[in-house]
Amino acid sequence: MAFQVDQKKNTIMGKLISKIPDGPLAQKWTKYKASVKLVNPANKKKLEIIVIGTGLSGAGAASALGELGYSVKNFCYQDSPRRAHSVAAQGGINAAKNYQGDGDSIYRLFYDMIKGGDYRAREGNVYRAAEVSNEVIDHYTALGVPFARDYGGTLDTRSFGGVQVSRTFYSKGQTGQQCLLGAYSSLNRQIKKGNVTMFPRREMLDLVLIDGKARGIIARNLLTGEIERHAAHAVVLATGGYGTIYYMSTLAVNSNASAAWKAHKKGAFFANPSFVQIHPTCVPQLNEFQSKLTLMSESLRNDGRVWVPKTKGDSRAANEIPEEERDYYLERRYPTFGNLVPRDVASRAAKERCDAGFGVGETGLAVNLDFRDSIKKQGKKAIENKYGNLFEMYKTITGIDPYEEPMRIYPAGHYTMGGLWVDYELMTTIPGLYAIGEANFSDHGANRLGASSLMQASGDGYFILPNTISNYLADEISVPKISTDKPEFEAAEKEVVERLIKLISIKGKQTASSFHKRLGKIMWDYCGMIRNEEGLKKALVLIRELKEEFWRDLIVPGTYSELNMELEKAGRVADYFELTELLVTDALNRKESCGAHFREEYQTPDGEALRNDEKYTYVAAWEYAGEGKPSVMHKEELKFEEVEMNVRSYK
Ligand SMILES: Cc1cc2nc3c(=O)[nH]c(=O)nc-3n(C[C@H](O)[C@H](O)[C@H](O)COP(=O)(O)OP(=O)(O)OC[C@H]3O[C@@H](n4cnc5c(N)ncnc54)[C@H](O)[C@@H]3O)c2cc1C
Repeated sequence: MAFQVDQKKNTIMGKLISKIPDGPLAQKWTKYKASVKLVNPANKKKLEIIVIGTGLSGAGAASALGELGYSVKNFCYQDSPRRAHSVAAQGGINAAKNYQGDGDSIYRLFYDMIKGGDYRAREGNVYRAAEVSNEVIDHYTALGVPFARDYGGTLDTRSFGGVQVSRTFYSKGQTGQQCLLGAYSSLNRQIKKGNVTMFPRREMLDLVLIDGKARGIIARNLLTGEIERHAAHAVVLATGGYGTIYYMSTLAVNSNASAAWKAHKKGAFFANPSFVQIHPTCVPQLNEFQSKLTLMSESLRNDGRVWVPKTKGDSRAANEIPEEERDYYLERRYPTFGNLVPRDVASRAAKERCDAGFGVGETGLAVNLDFRDSIKKQGKKAIENKYGNLFEMYKTITGIDPYEEPMRIYPAGHYTMGGLWVDYELMTTIPGLYAIGEANFSDHGANRLGASSLMQASGDGYFILPNTISNYLADEISVPKISTDKPEFEAAEKEVVERLIKLISIKGKQTASSFHKRLGKIMWDYCGMIRNEEGLKKALVLIRELKEEFWRDLIVPGTYSELNMELEKAGRVADYFELTELLVTDALNRKESCGAHFREEYQTPDGEALRNDEKYTYVAAWEYAGEGKPSVMHKEELKFEEVEMNVRSYK
């Protein structure tokens, strides 16, 4: 029987409908594609779609939709689409190709992700992500992405945390850059053909709804300050994650949450905001003046061994500490997965060792990542071939040569599993508004496994959204081009301008960045790697106090109708205050530990996360209730029909 859903309704009286197709897991997506409504080629040209974002999800979606014949408008705040943050991804991209013949399969990739996410993701979506992963690799290879190859010419792979197979395709330590160049070339092809119109240096400042449907955006031209209106039949947010709430994170300083947050305030539910991944291998903070931290890819844990001295406060240089005085604590505690335990586990273990006084370096807030043994075994050249650019980057930042001495690493804010709630079709709770890539709450549950974000972002953009969006657009073919003269655009633009003027008019003494830094510290201290009720409650008070100070003492020089980077920052920080409040509220609500969400009160006797499946096997999707009013939580109960919910163990 044909799969049919009412694509306009994924909530009924507040109850969330995820629209997972019926039938066996492995056939859901095939069945969906075979019965979804289509739009014929002549009608596609008449339909306009706005895509915000040009990372792997956005560039993928814009070029695939352009290729299909839709009229696409693509926006990003960078000067070029190829500077989207996906460019920073280092280690690799997963796929279930099983080129190694090591027992991998779509099912195993699905299972690893469900388990890795600590049983807090939807089975149907995760299986589909694993299923399209193979198409993603074929697609990038066809686009000319130079993935590493083995001696025989076959694509090479390596391992990432939380798995026992080798399924990660890579281009040295610059996989994101190479994939994005591929995506950028497919995007450019569509720009040249006139199917995609590119709007760089634009920031979406609000979403416009007409009769409850997403019909356009208000954007600011970041070079001229001009406020623009853009209309479409559907809007796709591919705007990335919000890891920058910690101020210090592995993300580019410009990455922000504003697009998703504006959509949330217009009715899109925000799911699991407190599920934030802290990455274990980052260059530790060197001083108070830093504005970001640098990631050292997880792939390094394939060959690097993590250790601290066995003696507290041992201040000898790493190379002077003999083998028997080193504690390879991950190998000791997790013999099965060793250095390749998932990120949440590795991060907490590093923190535990440092808090117990075994950390290294001047601050004691670092552990060693040592390549001595791998270099001895494989030779320097082999290590250089795999990670050369990462080693160079590390040396440039720290002055230490990792071929000679261990790297020093410490956890830092990295990836957000939380995001806009979407159904199986990747549609938010606003009809016609889609969220893809890191911007949605996605397929990673409470913890993302390494190299699965590029996979999910690319799968969403190239292969999933282009199939699902037609189910909505098929009913829109008779809707004529939407005019930006409509009162809804007028009202949204007025609101945007008023807010910009409000920010400029405060004329206080403190910069947006200084507020961001203080907010980030509150978040890191009370809602970071480890959380507890007392700290979370304190964080809520501190955030509200700081927010009040922000609106009283912010300084933004200049006007809004010109290039004004301070104003850009101020708007984003204003949104962070609101998002962090929701994030902490979500963390307080979830009285269990799962994946990266570790509540001190809920742990096993040996310090591992203790889930409460009876009460919390759900997605917490929050509805905005208005300024100053508490958000309303809706539950999407998660059902596990294929996998048994076990205690996640990597021992
Ligand atoms: C240092 C680092 C290394 C990583 N390494 C890996 C890895 O090896 N493997 C892996 O799988 N994952 C990795 N990740 C995670 C992965 O890179 C990201 O999750 C993924 O690239 C996100 O892609 P995206 O398309 O969702 O968004 P992004 O690439 O973040 O793109 C967001 C886009 O949205 C646009 N945008 C945002 N807001 C607005 C707005 N208001 N108006 C207009 N435009 C807007 C931006 O201009 C940009 O074009 C890494 C992440 C970091 C930080």
